Amino acid sequence: MSDYELEIDQIVQKIRENSYNSVLIQFPEGMLDKPLKTIKETLSKENIKVYVAGDPSYGVCDLAVDLAKKLKCELLIHFGHSEFGFQNQVNSALSEPIDVILVPAYYLSPQELDYTPIIREIKKRNWKTVGLAATIQHIKNLDKLEEILVNKNITVNRYNTGQVLGCHVTTLHKSNNVSDGFISVHAGYFHTHGFLLNTNKPLIQFDPYSGSITCYEELDHDKVVQKRFALLTQAKKAKYWGILGSSKLGQLNLKMISNVQSLLAERELPSITVVAENINPHVLANFSYIDAWVVTACPRLAIDDKIRFNKPVVTFREFLCIFDQVKWENLLEQGFF
Ligand code: SF4
Repeated sequence: MSDYELEIDQIVQKIRENSYNSVLIQFPEGMLDKPLKTIKETLSKENIKVYVAGDPSYGVCDLAVDLAKKLKCELLIHFGHSEFGFQNQVNSALSEPIDVILVPAYYLSPQELDYTPIIREIKKRNWKTVGLAATIQHIKNLDKLEEILVNKNITVNRYNTGQVLGCHVTTLHKSNNVSDGFISVHAGYFHTHGFLLNTNKPLIQFDPYSGSITCYEELDHDKVVQKRFALLTQAKKAKYWGILGSSKLGQLNLKMISNVQSLLAERELPSITVVAENINPHVLANFSYIDAWVVTACPRLAIDDKIRFNKPVVTFREFLCIFDQVKWENLLEQGFF
């Protein structure tokens, strides 16, 4: 029994219907253990070649279509993420699109989740209205949680499904001004960091694996925002800019790269455009003369990997703010990426 809903029956049906001979499967890091074994064992019975993408996949922007083509696979099965428009972007960049199945891999909790700690915390804080969100693996839990909250006379703000991505948090922006605070079902700090940057309200984070809550306050938001302000102040002094692009099809944004190049050229600031599959400190270390970088690929590189880079790395929206195209207040209201 897997901890995640793997939709194996639908996958097998699709493979049989289309008589695929070989498939590539792709999982996010951390999900490569038990679910992968389950899938591999099932697909082995279908008499097809099964390959596994070994590089980490951080999002649906990172579909291993190139690898699938090199391996002559007819199907890519990507686990752990949902569509969000990226699949079209990737396929439209290919001369011959390949078939892709996206399996969100919803988490299956061994027992019913107990939301009592959330309710207790909300009562303590006397919240009347909350914004509700979750990452894709836990999105199905929100219906039940919303029902419990509504039965307690708490108004729930939740836009579309309430799903947050590392780079898409529209539901947070829409709920921020009309909520006393947020409740989110997710694990780890990555998405918490996204909350703190994109909202200025307290957050109750519910970890569905441990059943525990962690609370973050306005002060935590202020701290992360102040750090961004300090970074932008430093980047503003840059005389030589680096423009970072990713060769991952879902992250390659030629229009954004071109906009950045034009803006710097207008201001007679020299720049170099560097495109890499994986952007990391080793890539940047080759360019000691660069004073600051702007990321046109995954914006979270600028946010979460900040301490790994020894030069300021900013998102596209932050770059626009540095050059007075976007106001600082707008970053605070509409987000930093
Ligand atoms: S661009 Fe970054 S944050 Fe957005 S889906 Fe891809 S990896 Fe996640």
